[in-house]
Amino acid sequence: MTEIIYMKDTESNYVREFDARVIDRGFDFVVLDRTAFYAAGGGQPSDTGSLAWAEGSVEVREVRKKGDTKHHLAQNPDIVPDEVRGELNWDRRYAHMKMHTAQHIVSGVVYDFYGGRTVGNQIYSDRSRIDFAPVTFTDDMLADVQTKCNDILSKGAKVEISTIARDVLEREVDSQRANLDLLPKSVRELRVVTIGDFDVCPCAGTHVRSLSEVGKVSITKRDRKGKDKERITYELG
Ligand SMILES: [Zn+2]
Repeated sequence: MTEIIYMKDTESNYVREFDARVIDRGFDFVVLDRTAFYAAGGGQPSDTGSLAWAEGSVEVREVRKKGDTKHHLAQNPDIVPDEVRGELNWDRRYAHMKMHTAQHIVSGVVYDFYGGRTVGNQIYSDRSRIDFAPVTFTDDMLADVQTKCNDILSKGAKVEISTIARDVLEREVDSQRANLDLLPKSVRELRVVTIGDFDVCPCAGTHVRSLSEVGKVSITKRDRKGKDKERITYELG
């Protein structure tokens, strides 16, 4: 099993270089004993970067978790020695951290004020989208969502990551707001992201340590995706 470095706490989300040992190899991938690379999932894309050693390096194109956490490489994994230094493409990852943290705020505001639940989301480094249902937005509602998000972001609350027992969390939060009811019942311990007094939500993604790092949300697009379902696209500035 690979130790996932960024799961532990908020500061571990900022680890961009780490030493690791190769514990398995496939036709185009290696498995490491520990990693700071994010494997694609939950609407957040994979990290990219490199694995380096004294005489060389190889590009990490994509990381996927299929059983093991597989680091897919641009070259034959046989050239990689057993001891490597992983390095993330930090600009891309940091953009995902800001976008992902903003997603919690937009999702929370839409649920709190308009009752729409988040039913899907996809983060990119330059824009992101969230699907909500049931909801039908008007231009005024979207302007209001944007203003409320930016009010919350401007207060710069701390973002904290911790592990909480599911039954404790179920007593403390609105399980629909936190999408707790969608998680398999077998999951008893949850990695939880807490944003000031605004949001408590189980999430395995990467996030910034303070809302002051996110910038301002700008809602750039709205699409109708079905009877009661709408998609919001936002950017950060
Ligand atoms: Zn998250």
